Amino acid sequence: MKEILEIKCLSRRFGGLQAVNKCEFSVRAHSITGLVGPNGAGKSTLFNLVSGFVRPDSGEIRFAGERIDTLSAHSVARLGLRRTFQIPRELKQMTVLENLLLVPENQFGDRIVSVLSQGKRVREEEGKNLQIARGVLEMVGLSEKATHQAALLSGGQKKLLELARCLMAKPKLLLLDEPTAGVNPTLIRHLMSVLRRVNESGVTLLIIEHNMTVIMELCERVIVMDRGQVIAAGSPSAIQSNKQVLEAYLGG
Ligand code: ADP
Ligand code: MG
Repeated sequence: MKEILEIKCLSRRFGGLQAVNKCEFSVRAHSITGLVGPNGAGKSTLFNLVSGFVRPDSGEIRFAGERIDTLSAHSVARLGLRRTFQIPRELKQMTVLENLLLVPENQFGDRIVSVLSQGKRVREEEGKNLQIARGVLEMVGLSEKATHQAALLSGGQKKLLELARCLMAKPKLLLLDEPTAGVNPTLIRHLMSVLRRVNESGVTLLIIEHNMTVIMELCERVIVMDRGQVIAAGSPSAIQSNKQVLEAYLGG
């Protein structure tokens, strides 16, 4: 399987606004691909469409060859396509480790009450998942924070926790919405090496990112959106000197 994600003629309107307009692109399996574009270009909406949180008006989305555009967000996640949100959604009262142990199957947090009520079975599940959780914390560099309350983490650490929660499900494709936004430069470097490690472990990454250093250093290919459409795609250096891309950023 060469293309893990294929998007064809994908559109979504909000009232009078065409947020995503006949989008076409694909993402190569095992790649790190960037998705860039000015504010309001439709990048987050595209993530919402791909992850099943918003329904397309028309078009096709294929994940690992399978049509997913009519599936629920939960079903899409179960197939191995996970996403992070621009604002991390950690469970504030729980420890870092508990955040990982209680949400291996879904990323919505809505099953927690029923999971907690299952007592013994949960403890067995935790036993199995504990090892995975320790490995995931090691991978993102949060091992030392395992017993800390999630609410007390820094902004950047919350992003790492959000990433860790996604990794618990062993995704094939991970959509990251501005992972470095609001993260300090030291932690950005750490996050970049974590993302590289995650990618090397076999996870394809599609990253919405404004930080050009991150794009240049991480991404083998970049897709550029403007006003709901894909206006360019290519290597980071080709994108940087693309006239149409420069005009889009200058508001032309
Ligand atoms: P980006 O992530 O590239 O900055 P978005 O996808 O968030 O852009 O937004 C694209 C456009 O769609 C914006 O004009 C935004 O206001 C609009 N939009 C996004 N989601 C909704 C929604 N749920 N309802 C109405 N308008 C929306
Ligand atoms: Mg956005």
